[in-house]
Amino acid sequence: MQNITVIGAGTMGNGIAHVFAQTGHSVTLVDISAAALEKALKTVEKNLDRMLRKEKISESDKAATLANISTSTDLSKGVSKADLVVEAATENVDLKLKIFKQIDENAPSDAILASNTSSISITKIAAVTNRPEKVIGMHFFNPVPVMKLVEVINGYATDKAVSAQIMELSKKLGKVPVEIKDYPGFAANRMLMPLMNEAFYTLYEGVAGVTEIDTVMKLGMGHPMGPLQLADFVGLDVCLAILHVLRDGFGNPKYAPCPLLVNMVAAGKLGRKTGEGFYKYGGAGKDLVVADQFA
Ligand code: NAD
Repeated sequence: MQNITVIGAGTMGNGIAHVFAQTGHSVTLVDISAAALEKALKTVEKNLDRMLRKEKISESDKAATLANISTSTDLSKGVSKADLVVEAATENVDLKLKIFKQIDENAPSDAILASNTSSISITKIAAVTNRPEKVIGMHFFNPVPVMKLVEVINGYATDKAVSAQIMELSKKLGKVPVEIKDYPGFAANRMLMPLMNEAFYTLYEGVAGVTEIDTVMKLGMGHPMGPLQLADFVGLDVCLAILHVLRDGFGNPKYAPCPLLVNMVAAGKLGRKTGEGFYKYGGAGKDLVVADQFA
């Protein structure tokens, strides 16, 4: 698989384009927004510069990686020569179904179509195409050039040979792939979100404060980040949406989101991206500062 098209040039798309390009693939990065494409190329270059400074890559590696990436705002043209399409557009079911129909109509008939979705059913996405056996989940983690894990998600109809090809390709990217069946939350979010939700409840019920909760998981369990800090990093709206997917998908109230999380999202306190969640961001110091609400 040589020609890779990545759809969506946001947080995940630029990282996915980066790792494919750095491992010698020819990448077409597609977004509806020209500004997003420009920003993505700058981000890739900035991340390559950091690797260069740390002597992980050479000047010529950097040049070759950048030369391997071209951009397009035309999805139909962008997928026309792809061996593999990796979709990393905004997390919205209707949008993804529309994009997959368009990819299916325009990509070569033998191309594999992957989605980086965090929570949408691969089986549902596959069902709108004429090649459900070639549709698969390729779930990367943020930041993509750094995080080693890829969840390879087999939809109901995914061909075993397709799955084996994507496992092999993920290893070539320097990643560690794990094979997962297509059920709500896959494996990572099914385990992570209930942990975070329990942390929200622990705070909501006044059992422990923000710093205490994160300290318990960092120092007691060896987690690099506490669950509240991680929730802020992921985005509290994203956590809420995934808990809804788990609750509705399994029909099990144990996944019902903590009312505190629901309130914070309603108040627009979404974590790092809005400057406040469980912590406050954007201050001068490097230390974490607990949000006034919880101080
Ligand atoms: P993002 O909002 O940063 O980027 C999404 C990009 O998609 C935007 O640049 C937008 O312009 C583009 N887009 C929207 N509609 C499009 C269309 N019709 N055609 C082409 N491009 C279009 O989102 P993100 O955080 O990079 O997430 C992308 C996907 O990756 C989602 O499915 C998300 O669930 C998944 N994901 C995100 C993370 C994370 O930590 N952010 C981790 C794993 C998986």
